[in-house]
Amino acid sequence: MQIAFIGLGNMGSPMAANLIKAGHRVRVFDLVESAVQALKDEGAETATSADEAVAGAEMVISMLPAGRHVKALYLGDEDGPGLLERLKGQPLIIDASTIEPDAARAVGDAAAERGYAFLDAPVSGGVGGARAGTLTFIVGGEASAFETARPVLECMGRNIFHAGGVGAGQVAKICNNMLLGILMSGTAEALALGESHGLDPAVLSDIMKQSSGGNWALNVYNPWPGVMENVPAANEYQGGFLTDLMAKDLGLAWELALKSHSPVPMGGQARNLFALHVAQGSGRLDFSSIQRLYRSETSH
Ligand code: NAD
Repeated sequence: MQIAFIGLGNMGSPMAANLIKAGHRVRVFDLVESAVQALKDEGAETATSADEAVAGAEMVISMLPAGRHVKALYLGDEDGPGLLERLKGQPLIIDASTIEPDAARAVGDAAAERGYAFLDAPVSGGVGGARAGTLTFIVGGEASAFETARPVLECMGRNIFHAGGVGAGQVAKICNNMLLGILMSGTAEALALGESHGLDPAVLSDIMKQSSGGNWALNVYNPWPGVMENVPAANEYQGGFLTDLMAKDLGLAWELALKSHSPVPMGGQARNLFALHVAQGSGRLDFSSIQRLYRSETSH
């Protein structure tokens, strides 16, 4: 299949590379030219604009930072009209970014008005999952479009869920990441409390993993340096999922809660913790560095 892939950052680059490995013809575009050139070495056709990337495409996939980028790409902004005005043919449009459900619905509605099918398909699994092709896709949109997309998404991911109509993928993804933010900060808090009373964080982690406090952060992403190998905590919190992005997702959860008047006291706490962590200059570190809010490494 001829696929246009727009947005070649930490996630988009390995995702596009996996599509190429699976035999698709992929034409790529990013505002950063070096990212485009890097994909050329993986076998991609390159484009110098989004228009060039989508020419002749049967599927358009975007992987951009936030809702304003996705809306600007498809709907346009002060610099000019969006891609939807200029598309030719009948490509299926899939946005895999994590954005406000309302932004996904705005693009979905505008696409439908012009006769295009649109899916929001945010992912879970991080950069490691993107490289390994084991992402989880959480998809919103028409069932028929979902079935068309599934075999292509399976080239990049292992678990492909249909959450509901357009925007439902984003809602599910945001709920998941709110829970993840709560679990990670709670895990960091418990480890710091135990350590302050003389426990070895590795021993405490083993105990909690096998007890009722066990969770994903303890199992595969321990935030305490030295407890686990091959996690960001073992590498000064480099790589992984940026604190900036977790703070963004918790902000999206907060906005959703306001809209439906839902109480999210735990999500609100997590949002404030990660916002504080960003304010203290840790936005570009992996989100498990929230451990540092609870423990000054120089004091030990
Ligand atoms: P990133 O910042 O590394 O990459 C975004 C890319 O989009 C950049 O290369 C940027 O130049 C490009 N871009 C922005 N506007 C563009 C435009 N108009 N046209 C072309 N290219 C444009 O971000 P990322 O880590 O790849 O994340 C992408 C999305 O995936 C975000 O919404 C994020 O929340 C989500 N996500 C990230 C992770 C993760 O672990 N990094 C995990 C799950 C979901």
